[in-house]
Order: sequence, then structure tokens, then C-alpha cells
Amino acid sequence: MKILTVVGNRPQFIKAAAVSGPLRAEHEEVLVHTGQHHDDSLSKVFFAELGLARPERELGIGGGSNTSQTARMLGALEGVLNEVAPDAVLVYGDTNSTLAGALAGAQAQVPVAHVEAGMRSFDRTMPEELNRVLTDHMSALLLCSSEVARDNLAREGIPGERAPGEEAFGEGAPSPVVVVGDVMVDVALRWQLKARESIDAVARGHRVRPWDYLLVTAHRAGNVDDRKRLAKLVELLGAVAEQTPLVFPMHPRTRARLEAAGLMEELLKIEGMHVAEPLGYAEFTDLLCGARAVLTDSGGVQKEAYLAGVPCVTLRASTEWVETVQAGWNTLVDLDARAARAALEREPPAERPRLYGDGHAAERCVEAIGTIGELRL
Ligand code: UDP
Repeated sequence: MKILTVVGNRPQFIKAAAVSGPLRAEHEEVLVHTGQHHDDSLSKVFFAELGLARPERELGIGGGSNTSQTARMLGALEGVLNEVAPDAVLVYGDTNSTLAGALAGAQAQVPVAHVEAGMRSFDRTMPEELNRVLTDHMSALLLCSSEVARDNLAREGIPGERAPGEEAFGEGAPSPVVVVGDVMVDVALRWQLKARESIDAVARGHRVRPWDYLLVTAHRAGNVDDRKRLAKLVELLGAVAEQTPLVFPMHPRTRARLEAAGLMEELLKIEGMHVAEPLGYAEFTDLLCGARAVLTDSGGVQKEAYLAGVPCVTLRASTEWVETVQAGWNTLVDLDARAARAALEREPPAERPRLYGDGHAAERCVEAIGTIGELRL
């Protein structure tokens, strides 16, 4: 089969790095990079480090509002689909590239496979939530990270099991909803194993001591685009830095918003604040594994912190990675500084059950994608 894979931003390069190898062993893959993240620190470094094949097509579409960016991607992807004539389109996660890839595929009547289907934060003010819901409802094959994701889809009328005798499906036909585990976990497990040896050197490179710093990431629109929320974030970081130093690899979007809001100076004045450029995957994983805790509004980082056994304080009021909260390793504090400090003082639970699979999700994705021709659009 010929599979057209659409990626565009940092977490998608990481997810595609897990799937692309096994996919190419069985099928032909045409990788399209939309250009949503074009910055070297958010894009190129991941291709080099994680061994992801160079994209066959680069659309160079970044910037602008979510709506205009998605619209431009759609236009460009229509042409690519016509030219490549794939048997399936593969998309990951919840970005504008995900939605554009799925809609362009569905409109061209090419079956779409969605990796990380069924995730829900139930917060429709998040652009990512709109992208997730719409993508799932256009996809022929929904590849879920967990049972919770499958249940979310079932509640929205996308059944994992087909009704007996349903016309379009034969007996024993493949299911459109498959819990494969999480492909990011495949990558994280491998890299976290290697990280243990380099924590010391990497921490020292950021002028902190292993196990004695907090790792921070923040870039969600809801936290950085609104000046009041951004000021609250700076205040929260100041409050937690009184106890433990912070390492903050800063996303370019956050840097731009802090500078535009005149808050960068205030952030840099915080004692114990170590701001860095966005890091490559290996260095970030090393820092994560050596951190006392993580403060983040990222989806992927919540999951990776859980895997590494590092307590996570999530700077959001909701999360789609609810299992990490239920397990007691992740606390949602939104931008409440007092709640963040309280969460950081709590001991993590003794138990850390396996969530999101065993590190072989990518192989299950490829197996399921092989059945896509038998599924209805
Ligand atoms: N990450 C990285 N370098 C950094 C910050 C994050 O490699 O400086 C990785 C992190 O390990 C995770 C992914 O980027 O795998 C998360 O991406 P992001 O927070 O941009 O997206 P989200 O998961 O929130 O969609």
C-alpha cells in the first residue's frame, strides 16, 4: 500500500519516528511536512536525532491563525493527494496538520488512520480539542493509546465493536477502533533507558544538580497568548523557584509572547531560573529523568514524566491524559501558584501501573493500517 503521512510539529516528528520505520518495512510511505514547526530547534533536530526519514514533500506552511493555517494546509494537501494517489492517509495527534491531513484525505475519499485517537480534555476552547474531535469523526481507522480513549469514542457513537450483522462488515472483519498503546511511549522507553547514564553531565550543563531542579515547559495558547495568564505563569514560576531551581527550555512561541508582553525581564529576574533554548529529544529526556518534578502544559511531557517516574504538575485545568492523574502522579493546578507548591510537596505514590502500552504500539499501528482497505470510509 502507499501511505501518505502528514506531520508538522515537534510531537508529531517523535510519534512518526516510532511508526515510520516499521511502516516502511511493509508499505511505501510518502512523508509530508506541512511546515507548522519550521524552526530548526523544533523540527530538523528531531529528524536527525530520531532517524526519521527526510520528508518527501515540504509544504512550508506555518504562522497565521489556526483557521488560516489549516485552510492553507488543506489547499496544498489537496494537490499532494491528487499527485500521490495514496491508499491511505496517516495523521497523528491533534494539531492543525492533523486536521488538515484528515479532512483532505476524507474529502478525496482516501481512508484516514488517526494515531492517538479518542483523547479528550473536554475543553472545546482548546484548538487541539477541536482538531481531535473532528479528526476522529472523519477517520476510518482509530488507533487509541488507552481504553479510556476507546470509551471516549464509544460515547461519541464511534463503536469499537461492530454490531452483529451490520451490513458493511463481514464476520471477523477488522475493527475501526483499535487500542494499540501509545507510540510516543515506544520512543520514550528506549530513550529513557539511555538517559540514566548522562543525567549528571546534562544537569551540570544547565547549572543545576541532578534530582534538585524542576523541569518546566509551557507553550499552550491558553497559557501564553493572554497577557494576564502569562503574567500568572511568571508569578507561579517565581513562587516555586523559591524552593527549587528551574530549568525552562523555552518554546519560541512563549519567548515571543513574553517579549511582546514585556514579561521576559521579570521571568529572567527569578532567582534559580535557568532558561534554555528548546532542546533536542535526547537532552530533554535526560533532563526529565533527572528532575525532581516537571511543571508543564504539554500533553506529551505529562506522559513521559509518568513513564520516567517523575511527578508532574500540569499547568492546565484539564488534561486528556487522565490516567496519569488517576494514578496520583500528575496534579492539575491550572496557574494557581499555591496549588503548584502544595502539589510539589506531596510524595508520589508507591505504585506506578503500566499505562499506554508496552513499547510496541507502532507495530500494532502498522498491523492495523494493513487492514484499512477493508474498512469503510
Ligand atoms: N520536547 C523536546 N524538547 C523540548 C521540549 C519538549 O524534545 O525542549 C519533547 C518532549 O519530550 C515531548 C514532546 O517534545 O516528547 C512534547 O511536545 P510539545 O510539548 O511541543 O507538544 P504536546 O505534547 O503538548 O502536543
